[in-house]
Amino acid sequence: MNKENIQAFGNLVERADRILIISHTRPDGDAVGSLIGLGLIFEELGKKVNLVLEDGVPKVFHHLPSYDRVFREAAGVYDLIVVVDCSDIDRIGNVLDDYGEPDVNIDHHPTNTCFAGLNLVQETAVATVEIIYDLAVALSLPLNQSIAEVFLTGLLTDSLGFRTSNTTPKALRIAAELQELGADLPFLYRKAMGEKSLEAVKYWGLGLSRINLEDRLVWTSLSLEDRKKADYPGRDDADLINLLASIKETDISLVFVEQKNGTVKVSWRARPGFDVSKTALEFGGGGHKPAAGAEIKGSLEQVQEDVIKATRHALNGTG
Ligand code: 5GP
Ligand code: MN
Repeated sequence: MNKENIQAFGNLVERADRILIISHTRPDGDAVGSLIGLGLIFEELGKKVNLVLEDGVPKVFHHLPSYDRVFREAAGVYDLIVVVDCSDIDRIGNVLDDYGEPDVNIDHHPTNTCFAGLNLVQETAVATVEIIYDLAVALSLPLNQSIAEVFLTGLLTDSLGFRTSNTTPKALRIAAELQELGADLPFLYRKAMGEKSLEAVKYWGLGLSRINLEDRLVWTSLSLEDRKKADYPGRDDADLINLLASIKETDISLVFVEQKNGTVKVSWRARPGFDVSKTALEFGGGGHKPAAGAEIKGSLEQVQEDVIKATRHALNGTG
């Protein structure tokens, strides 16, 4: 991030009184952490802040400070609109339909489309919270224990507990700083990643019962009926994709999650040396080389067939 962009961000914040912050649908720890953390910083500065996630905060993050202050709609008038952890504007859902282009886009996805007036995109950051932390330090913005807790959650969840290939010494140093601000690393790890609800495990079971492995590609699906049977409250895969990615005999793993609106949410994971973000981009999604996603129109069967074919091409280096 260059100095001019950091200063431009500082100026926009200084001039704004009412600020709206938004992140993506099916929010993960980095979306929730970036949203709440930036919101708490702005509040410390005396701003009026509205935090919006179209899907709300998933139960798995209900131990975090201010999780209950996140709304599902953006009603109101704002001086500044900031989107965090979204590689394209469609990721936020429909919450900005009645508003213009967002003012600021803070993100770490290489597939970011730079959709805002000011785009603070840094691909080398392990998580978007890392970029926000850097902005806070560079502009001497306030940090406290609550902010440290949500930031550390974003770092932990996007790096799968500091074990993804993009984990840097810098990210670990920031984690140490956040611990010193009072964030309890083992507690935050356990709550966000170490514990599963019974419903999530039952949901996994249904997906695992029909797992496929063919030529180093592993995949499974979760239907709307599975979700109902397991009584699983989310519309995501409950992180089943990361379990599939741990299977030794694979290079690329895929999970297909049927949605109520006639689309299928696809998650890709790849071992180092492979790039699934390009395939995700082909289907209107995005992400990083080792982890990408897309929401694709069509039936579960059709989307599976098309995506597996395209992914197989990429895996064989012929795509
Ligand atoms: P996940 O599979 O865990 O949902 O997401 C993996 C990565 O792909 C994350 O970095 C996430 O932000 C990105 N991603 C997931 N779904 C979508 C999508 O529908 N569109 C875009 N652009 N990126 C996505
Ligand atoms: Mn992220």
